[in-house]
Amino acid sequence: MPESFDVIVIGGGTAGLVTASGCARLGRKVALIEREKLGGDCLWTGCVPTKALVATARLIHQLRHAEAYGLETQDIRFTPKSVMDSMRAQRQAIEHHDDPEKFRALGIEVIFGEAKLISSSDVEVADRRLTAKDIVIATGTRTALPPVEGLAEHGFLDHVSFLDQDTFPDSILILGGGPIGVEFAQIFRRFGSEVVVVEMSDEIISKEDGDVIARIRKILTEEGIEIRSGWAAKSVRADAEKKVVRIENKLGETLELRIDEIFVASGRRANIEDLGLEAAGVKTDRGFVVVDKYLQTSVPRIWACGDVHGGMQFTHVAAYEAVKLVRNMLFPGRSAVSYDNIPWGLYTDPEVGHIGMTEGEAVTAHGADNIRTYSIEMAEVDRAVVDRTTGGFVKLVCDKRGHILGAHALCANASTLIETLVLARQKNVTVAQLAQLVSPYPSLADALQKAASMYYQDVAKGWLGSLGKQIARWSQ
Ligand SMILES: Cc1cc2nc3c(=O)[nH]c(=O)nc-3n(C[C@H](O)[C@H](O)[C@H](O)COP(=O)(O)OP(=O)(O)OC[C@H]3O[C@@H](n4cnc5c(N)ncnc54)[C@H](O)[C@@H]3O)c2cc1C
Repeated sequence: MPESFDVIVIGGGTAGLVTASGCARLGRKVALIEREKLGGDCLWTGCVPTKALVATARLIHQLRHAEAYGLETQDIRFTPKSVMDSMRAQRQAIEHHDDPEKFRALGIEVIFGEAKLISSSDVEVADRRLTAKDIVIATGTRTALPPVEGLAEHGFLDHVSFLDQDTFPDSILILGGGPIGVEFAQIFRRFGSEVVVVEMSDEIISKEDGDVIARIRKILTEEGIEIRSGWAAKSVRADAEKKVVRIENKLGETLELRIDEIFVASGRRANIEDLGLEAAGVKTDRGFVVVDKYLQTSVPRIWACGDVHGGMQFTHVAAYEAVKLVRNMLFPGRSAVSYDNIPWGLYTDPEVGHIGMTEGEAVTAHGADNIRTYSIEMAEVDRAVVDRTTGGFVKLVCDKRGHILGAHALCANASTLIETLVLARQKNVTVAQLAQLVSPYPSLADALQKAASMYYQDVAKGWLGSLGKQIARWSQ
């Protein structure tokens, strides 16, 4: 007889952990199955270790530019091992949040092993057979290997294998100019590697606002990173000392780049092979589990949340979806997911905080005549000046009536700064209301108030314009 549960959760990353603990706190009998360690990508190979490396890389950069603070620049001495050990120490300090015992204390049966669905209600794991009314698939994603001839044979790194080692290559080609590729490009460069980013699309970090892309591109290029967007890697071979990557652009021009290592960051694929989805009747599309807006799969009592369904692949989204899923699974009625007010951070230095539409998206949706943008350079913000972090800006994208359609911050702690805009959008605060915000002086939040205040200049210009036209008519 199979062991019976109310809910079986497959995958112990953010999505699975939040789902399992939510169900257990609501009194359900839960089995949580994980094939490696609880914590998933975020803790072990994603957000946590990369942001620990970003912090070290930022400090190295600041020390190299110490004269800006009135200090003498000095030789900074470090070894790859010292840097990686420090990263691991930060991860270890966070690890306890995902300790299996914590979840067992909630009454959850934590099972380690590879789960496989054998029907729409039964799961096999480690020689055990479990059954439940509801099953949640939260198995996440992993690096997708692009179709580049010779790549697998000649070897490559990704976020998982790199974080396990204690060496930095002399030169590295980063395949993919998305968030992961760009964050690692800056990390490697600041640790001393020669870096080239090869991105097939015309632009890197293409989901960001055009002005953000242009500025990040400039910052990375000035740090010595070569960016080749509009180029695709075609093949890899090896000569006596190096890997040789042939890249090609849309005009059919080719180039050969000789480098020590290749870092693949060109896409993700869902962990769904061997999961028994066919046996359960769960539909997939382009390698990801298909879900509706209530996070239900094509099979009524099988649900999915987090990266595995190929939506917005962020930890905070995985957690948000898990909460929605628990609500939809255990309570009457349904509540749809909405991604309108979901922000994200891009952890370059300076950081990017993003919410809502880019200017380009707003123009497409509403027409250029109906869009207003208000931007302020961080060089105009006193706190950024005294902190010596002036290389960015804040930009608000609004409609003509001052509704905030999107906001983009490129500055220190931009992922925190953007929170104010999340709340503003949630509560339908207009840009005129945002301008009335009183922030402590000096703070980076001043940038928001300054950008929003430009709305009044816009309105005043409009008024003065019509007053001028009126006077001209009167005086005719
Ligand atoms: C380099 C990198 C940096 C990132 N940085 C950020 C960031 O700064 N901020 C942010 O918001 N997001 C970031 N992300 C994204 C974030 O890590 C993911 O969105 C998040 O981890 C998704 O959680 P999840 O639970 O859906 O999947 P995962 O965390 O991948 O968890 C899935 C779990 O399922 C397990 N599993 C898979 N198959 C089976 C099976 N058959 N049986 C049992 N267990 C199974 C896996 O072992 C894994 O533990 C980053 C990602 C990467 C790769």
